[in-house]
Amino acid sequence: MRLRHKPWAKEEMENHPHIVMAAPEKSKGKWNSVFGNDNPIYVEVGTGKGQFLTGMGQAHPHINFIGIEKYDSVLITAMERVKEAELPNVKFLNEDVEELLAFFAEGEIARLFINFTDPWPKNRHEKRRLTYKTFLNKYEKILNKGGEIHFKTDNQGLFEYSLHSFSKYGMILNNVSLDLHKSGIEGNIMTEYEQKFHEKNMRIYRCEAEYRE
Ligand code: SAM
Repeated sequence: MRLRHKPWAKEEMENHPHIVMAAPEKSKGKWNSVFGNDNPIYVEVGTGKGQFLTGMGQAHPHINFIGIEKYDSVLITAMERVKEAELPNVKFLNEDVEELLAFFAEGEIARLFINFTDPWPKNRHEKRRLTYKTFLNKYEKILNKGGEIHFKTDNQGLFEYSLHSFSKYGMILNNVSLDLHKSGIEGNIMTEYEQKFHEKNMRIYRCEAEYRE
């Protein structure tokens, strides 16, 4: 993703602490109180400009969504989208996914989305892929029983790698699709990357992965 320096982004986010949560570690284990309801919490890692979570928040008002994105110059667009749409059920963390365990308690999350994550194609960068085993281990800790990962990508190599990584970790794979937009799936909300690739007629890969109890 091309990053444009936006020196005002940080301050603008600080002015909207109900959308971009400062000091999220203070909310660890208390996210349902933060949202003020008992609805399930779904997290998206590497959320980008927030098209997916804004769409999901509108489509599913009885689910709470939290998007994690490390670059403020990108996240500011997500914040503006949620502000415009007035969505009380969507919040963001301007943080690194590496630190996930500092923000969520064991079993606090019901579902985790990984959408069009950076493929890091070089072998020496394997550990940076958000479907690498150390990340799967962090996700497992914060997901509740029966919690799932929903994964979408345009990158065949990353998809093959991730299927292997999920299965090597002992996860159960469901609804594997090698061409999502031709699979007749209902209720799919496109991310900004997905929309771009779909408009170029590129295929989208998708699967759901479930931890064994
Ligand atoms: N999910 C969006 C979509 O599908 O349109 C954005 C995809 S973009 C290729 C990947 C995003 O993940 C980038 O905005 C990047 O900054 C973010 N990202 C990658 N690794 C991350 C990490 N460890 N922590 C937080 N964000 C990360």
